Amino acid sequence: MNIIVCIKQVPDTTNVRIDPETNTLVRSGVQSIVNPFDMYAIEEAVRLKEKFGGLVTVITMGPIQAEEALREAISLGADEAVLVSDRAFAGSDTWATSYTLSKAVQKIGKFDLVICGKQAIDGDTAQVGPGVAAFLDIPQITFVKKIEEIKDSFIRAERMTEEGYDIIESPLPCLITVVKEINEPRLPSLKGKMRAKKIEIKKLEAKDLDADPDSLGLKGSPTKVVKIFTPPPRKGGQMLEGEAKDISERLVDLLKGDLCL
Ligand SMILES: Cc1cc2nc3c(=O)[nH]c(=O)nc-3n(C[C@H](O)[C@H](O)[C@H](O)COP(=O)(O)OP(=O)(O)OC[C@H]3O[C@@H](n4cnc5c(N)ncnc54)[C@H](O)[C@@H]3O)c2cc1C
Repeated sequence: MNIIVCIKQVPDTTNVRIDPETNTLVRSGVQSIVNPFDMYAIEEAVRLKEKFGGLVTVITMGPIQAEEALREAISLGADEAVLVSDRAFAGSDTWATSYTLSKAVQKIGKFDLVICGKQAIDGDTAQVGPGVAAFLDIPQITFVKKIEEIKDSFIRAERMTEEGYDIIESPLPCLITVVKEINEPRLPSLKGKMRAKKIEIKKLEAKDLDADPDSLGLKGSPTKVVKIFTPPPRKGGQMLEGEAKDISERLVDLLKGDLCL
């Protein structure tokens, strides 16, 4: 079973500062770690490899320093690592990030499963996993808390919901995003640490991806951060009482007004 795990290097804090000038994350001076949810993705991939054999490839899109995150994944049992890095990727929003990662996944070759964390603790959108699946045109199961069965060309997984869980079956290849309930990540082994030091990290640049240059980086990002601000505290709500018909009419009037109840 060939598994590709997408990991992101993030600042070691959930209290991310935003540069008010550029509206981007301030990363300097903050220690970086592997996104905590991606640690569960790595662990699940390594467990599947231990059970069924195959290859685990970790991949990250980021600056050169993101190599550290890849080496950590190797120390935890991943076999190969790919850094997707190029100035052309700078300023990517989640759309361009997903597109670029999907191109890199295709470049890596044949795979049965792609595993992502459920979300990154800095950007926090939870869009990249589903985005990669969409660009690859493969099925996805998000918020997976347990893989019940996986074989040949089929996966059955429990997907966490607010009320409980769904059981979803999908053909392979498939992309899953995982939640922390799925496993208990291991610590790196000494052998793993030695391997991580020595391993050659493969690099993919924009020219290697067979990608549309206009779909990369800032140019390929349909969303723009125009302003970042702390939302004002919510005012108290207003209860509408009466018959359903009267309430709905009153509600429509209010919504047509200033949206403030
Ligand atoms: C509107 C907008 C504009 C932005 N503009 C900029 C900008 O100008 N400059 C900038 O630096 N950032 C920018 N960002 C942030 C950047 O797009 C995101 O950090 C990135 O797309 C990942 O999104 P996320 O952090 O929400 O990840 P999520 O979608 O929450 O991550 C889910 C999972 O996807 C995988 N994943 C996510 N990112 C990567 C990655 N890079 N490599 C491998 N796997 C990954 C991981 O498995 C992760 O657990 C912007 C974001 C938005 C929404």
